[in-house]
Amino acid sequence: MDDPLPAMLYLRNLKLGMDLKTTMDVRRSLPAVDTLLAHPTLQKAQLRHGWRLVREAIRLTLESERSRLANTTGRTEHQHANISLETLTARALERLEQLARPNSRSVFNLTGTVIHTNLGRSLLAEPAIEAMAQAARHPTALEYDLDSGGRGDRDRLVEPLLCELTGAEAATVVNNNAGAVLLALSALACGREAVISRGELIEIGGAFRMPDIMVSAGCRLHEVGATNRTHVRDFQAALNENTGLIVKAHTSNYAITGFTKSVPESELARIAHAHGVPFLVDLGSGALTDFSALGLPHESQPREAIAAGADVVTFSGDKLLGGPQAGVIVGRRELIDTIKRHPLKRALRLDKLTLAALEATLRLYRDSDAPQRDIPTLAMLTRPETDIAATGERLLDSAQALLDDIDVSLAPCSSQLGSGSLPVDRLPSYALVWRPVSGDRHARERCLRRIEAAFRQLPRPVIGRLHDGALYLDLRCLHHPTDEDAFVAQFTALKQRYESLLDMPLGGQP
Ligand SMILES: *Cc1c(COP(=O)(O)O)cnc(C)c1O
Repeated sequence: MDDPLPAMLYLRNLKLGMDLKTTMDVRRSLPAVDTLLAHPTLQKAQLRHGWRLVREAIRLTLESERSRLANTTGRTEHQHANISLETLTARALERLEQLARPNSRSVFNLTGTVIHTNLGRSLLAEPAIEAMAQAARHPTALEYDLDSGGRGDRDRLVEPLLCELTGAEAATVVNNNAGAVLLALSALACGREAVISRGELIEIGGAFRMPDIMVSAGCRLHEVGATNRTHVRDFQAALNENTGLIVKAHTSNYAITGFTKSVPESELARIAHAHGVPFLVDLGSGALTDFSALGLPHESQPREAIAAGADVVTFSGDKLLGGPQAGVIVGRRELIDTIKRHPLKRALRLDKLTLAALEATLRLYRDSDAPQRDIPTLAMLTRPETDIAATGERLLDSAQALLDDIDVSLAPCSSQLGSGSLPVDRLPSYALVWRPVSGDRHARERCLRRIEAAFRQLPRPVIGRLHDGALYLDLRCLHHPTDEDAFVAQFTALKQRYESLLDMPLGGQP
């Protein structure tokens, strides 16, 4: 062999063959699935989780053990050769816990955004939760008229309450507010022009853009005015024989400030009615109570829009209303009837669970002496600063004692309402601030990402906000005492998680 290349290949293959042999030996040293299945601990686990899931956990554990060996043999084979049965059992149990954990999981929302769309928006009031459970457990008179024994209408469960609370003649409900707008536009202005101010062509996020919804509904968008200013004469000039309706959208997730002008609802109603077309207001958040009376920034209520002459008003069930995800449409009887007859209504209708929760929530607005106490969203929004600080004081000592390289302090911060409600207003609050203190800037940055990940990977994940080189956990939505206890109960797990992340690549899962 005078060509060096084949010789090198030969030598490499020889080494590969040896590695392969060692790997095979080591892999053979792993126990069989049945051996682990018979282990007392995993036997016990089968009583709770069933045989199938336990076997799957074992299979996955052995599989990852095998590939770990394949990757590391040649360097540290002796270290791995005799992994104990106990270690494997523990790993299988850990894997089992992951498999058994539901995908839809409770988290702590300590982001400071009270109505957080990505975290499921409003929490329901107890009576609403109870009503949902009842509706889930038993048949309900969903579309059955108990007086006549004939067919009923599911909207009836909430329509009288909605009319009472908004002053509207009629109401209907659908899956969410995006659906409500789509349905109302389709039913009232398909094939015609929808006139709207350029300052209100909103995008709510998650692909809700007013212009797109209008097009989906078969309307032609007729924009008027300028981004910052729209006048009565702009609307008047826009009206023609193809006009289907005038729309006003609540600019709920931003504010246009400075040199601005918009046309008030009462004026728009007057212009629309003089032209013989309806006036629709997309309100978004749907506050059913006077927010200024609760010490919060003023928020337009459906009642006010109806009183100003709006013919149709749409709003969400799970924003400031504090109920389940739903889209509410209230307004003039004849228009609501037209909306209800549209085929999309059937496609977007609410299920019995949501209807039950919505009805119970609306009843609280009508009957409760203190909705701001009984409706969790309102309770969180009106929670006194001193009360939030007290939560912080109770948690501070044990938080401070937890990790060496992270300083924990209690600091003022500001929460926001979220989901586009009252975008510029902030609510004074307090946060536990976790700030890395050792090492250079890069070390502190890594440490910050680690603590953030450790909180996120807890059995009940804690979601906070990274800000100014620290992790802020806004305590506004941490309820006393149940949530506080559950939060602290995870501290040991947090420490373990944080420490195990020290030898992981960043963002890595175990
Ligand atoms: C939130 C919002 C929507 C979308 O409501 P969903 O209930 O999320 O579908 C539409 N319009 C306005 C003005 C909103 O604020």
